[in-house]
Amino acid sequence: MIVEGALFDIDGPRPGYARIEGGRVVETGLLGTDSTRGRVRRVRGIVTPRPVNGHTHLGDAISSREPPPVSFSELVAPPNGYKFRLLATASRAEKVRAMRGALARMRREGIAGTIDFREEGLAGVRALRRAAARSGLEVVILGRPVSPDRPRAEVDAILEIADGIGLSSAREEPAGVRRRVADACRARGKRYALHASEEIREDPAVYLEPTPDLVVHLTRAEPADIEQVAAAKVAIAACPRSNALFGRRPLLREMERAGAQMLLGTDNAMLLSPSVWSELEFAYVSSRAAGAPVSAPYLARAALVEPWRWLGREEEARIAAGSPARPLVHRLPPDDPAYQLVTRATEHLMLRPAASRASFAQDEVA
Ligand SMILES: [Zn+2]
Repeated sequence: MIVEGALFDIDGPRPGYARIEGGRVVETGLLGTDSTRGRVRRVRGIVTPRPVNGHTHLGDAISSREPPPVSFSELVAPPNGYKFRLLATASRAEKVRAMRGALARMRREGIAGTIDFREEGLAGVRALRRAAARSGLEVVILGRPVSPDRPRAEVDAILEIADGIGLSSAREEPAGVRRRVADACRARGKRYALHASEEIREDPAVYLEPTPDLVVHLTRAEPADIEQVAAAKVAIAACPRSNALFGRRPLLREMERAGAQMLLGTDNAMLLSPSVWSELEFAYVSSRAAGAPVSAPYLARAALVEPWRWLGREEEARIAAGSPARPLVHRLPPDDPAYQLVTRATEHLMLRPAASRASFAQDEVA
């Protein structure tokens, strides 16, 4: 198959074509220069890498009802918020089933994977590993110790099977705990992340020490804080839809101005769908509604490129012959591709060329 129109990847947006065979890119180039001389099926569209969801809590997919009208901390704060009471009363089988459902939805939407903050200690990490097996998605699990004082033994046990640790916040975890957790992660080449400046402003000097690999939210951050995070080369996961439910918004324009590495996350699965495409559109539109517009290319990169860089797998974000990327084809106008991707991308206008003809056909009608 040849897709003629535009490419959007780690090298930016550009007009061109991509020839895709067996679910991989085998040739790219300028429009009209492909080697097939018209013998291959042609479609018009935009070729991209697959997006990765930058922040989820898939465990709370056990509930999908409108949450009760309580304060933010009564809703989601550990250990006794509404969400944690739900998690405590649901069975392991219910939680695994709910997480599988969320992963299946992401797969249908062409999403490659997610970076998940998994609560409930070692058992929570195990349950998500089980849900993720054979899901077709790559799930980066950042577990969370739950024992008082977060002993090293528990952190190590979690890191045996998790990809890192995702703490609630520096407000809830003293410096000694954060240092111990970060050291354990570093020793194993795993990742240390935490929420920051979500409900109230926190001092970057606190949450950047020890240096995390990722901070989530920064909804109450000052522009100077964003600059400090960007200067420390710490990535930010922004979750504009989830924040908006509580009357907040991440400073996306300031993140772009500061050159911050930004990922887009959909946050709590009990509040919203894990659709990166919905998040992209809301991020773009809401930034304009707030009078602080962020650019379409910056947002498209946050979904399609920056997570792969964060994972140290840049080649997955490159549409080029021989790349390991499994490309998506968007049946969208190729003019101004980043704008199309943030305002019009949807699974209904997407082809996922797969390795076999059968699954290609199936994907095409999906
Ligand atoms: Zn979170």
